[in-house]
Amino acid sequence: MTKDDKFWETIPFDQFNQKQWESICDGCAQCCAHKLQDEDTDEIFLTNIVCEYLDTEKCQCSVYGDRHTYVPDCIKITPQNAKELSWIPETCGYKLLANGKPLPEWHPLVTGDRQSTEQANMTIKNKVISEADIEIDDLEDYLVEEGYFSSLCKAIGADC
Ligand code: SF4
Ligand code: SF4
Repeated sequence: MTKDDKFWETIPFDQFNQKQWESICDGCAQCCAHKLQDEDTDEIFLTNIVCEYLDTEKCQCSVYGDRHTYVPDCIKITPQNAKELSWIPETCGYKLLANGKPLPEWHPLVTGDRQSTEQANMTIKNKVISEADIEIDDLEDYLVEEGYFSSLCKAIGADC
């Protein structure tokens, strides 16, 4: 890969075309996990419950084009808000670039392989439950530690 191919290193973050912008998403689907916010401190807590419209095998939104019809508060990440969204993971390509950081070595744009996020165990696959399968009022029972989705130990069920 030449320097010119690495557009994310040469083109300003807010000047990507649509195709380039979409390719920054590594497909982890971590942003589709529900979070809870403490009313007093604003602290955000992660759960392993995901939106009912997420295909948890493919790690893809099943209603992507119409997602705001189905989930009005599904947030659209933009060059303007990528830096501020505290609930998206630190590994999110948009957040990394917005903060002037490089994409990780397992990112599909770096590897040239769309499967590399899953191979690096960075997706939600096998680590989540759909909200359709729980009582949503019980969300507090599904809190997980920060970093849960990138923990190999959790993914393989090991106690480490
Ligand atoms: S967290 Fe970022 S990289 Fe992961 S699916 Fe969401 S937008 Fe894409
Ligand atoms: S509507 Fe789609 S993109 Fe939005 S949270 Fe649900 S699965 Fe994720």
